[in-house]
Amino acid sequence: MFESLSDRLGDVFKRFRGQGRLDESNIQEGLREVRLALLEADVNFKVVKEFIDRIRERCLGVEVMKSLTPGQQVVKIVHDEMVELLGGQSTDLVFAKGAPTVFMMVGLQGSGKTTTTGKLANLLRKQGKKPFMVPADVYRPAAIEQLHTLARQLNVPSFNSSADQNPVDIARAALAQAVEQGFDVVLLDTAGRLHIDEPLMQELANIKAAVSPQEILFVADAMTGQEAVNISQSFNERLDISGVVLTKMDGDARGGAALSIKRVLGKPVKLVGMGEKLSDLEVFHPDRAAGRILG
Ligand code: GDP
Repeated sequence: MFESLSDRLGDVFKRFRGQGRLDESNIQEGLREVRLALLEADVNFKVVKEFIDRIRERCLGVEVMKSLTPGQQVVKIVHDEMVELLGGQSTDLVFAKGAPTVFMMVGLQGSGKTTTTGKLANLLRKQGKKPFMVPADVYRPAAIEQLHTLARQLNVPSFNSSADQNPVDIARAALAQAVEQGFDVVLLDTAGRLHIDEPLMQELANIKAAVSPQEILFVADAMTGQEAVNISQSFNERLDISGVVLTKMDGDARGGAALSIKRVLGKPVKLVGMGEKLSDLEVFHPDRAAGRILG
């Protein structure tokens, strides 16, 4: 993940570290290269500008710390700012007290939403919780079957949705069944579309109003870069999402989505998909991700 960004920045930092003295001009030169590397990685241009401005300000204002060479100080400042850009700290999922928790999964078709629902059920079960998987995509009957198949593989119960039911009714009935049967977390896999459309958004807003989810997780394909960020904005404006799951981070995603989404949306990346297997879901740690990018 992020290999080419990491290689590019590695080269810039090698030069920074090797310099005994840093002055305004070689800081500017180095930051110009950092900026280009981020733009090439498809990071939102406004985010890049802000990021570089902050680093420049901090670098020029920095007092020389005895323990670090000036080059190392610049590298440290970039690292700290990148951790902030990625969200600062990892952000926990929010659970309800008492009643079952509802997590609503939203996103475009193909983003990895259904797979992520299965992965999340697996993760929650490992934490000792009792998840309940609920297919609420009635437009693609294959989607209902896909979720049931994942549920069977995991040996997790799933709600018996049928394609002629209204998704809002499915959500309500599933929540009632969860209460009755003592499940802790209802995982609602909602419909995806190839593009955002108004009926889909209205339906998602109706489900939200009906079951008041603790989490609305926008599932985004990290490989689609700024496209993922733009789409997440549309979902956020309408649904006020609580966090993002970036999938396919095991592929050669350039980093644009991960590095832009928190600053653009103000919502954290909570989880990342690292492969096709049901165990390939991890909590997102900004410091580790920054470490991976910066080497
Ligand atoms: P949905 O239409 O959003 O429900 O998408 P699916 O869950 O059906 O996933 C679409 C494709 O992406 C499937 O082939 C998944 O195996 C794949 N996929 C999902 N998450 C990941 C991931 O984290 N890494 C990789 N490599 N593939 C993933």
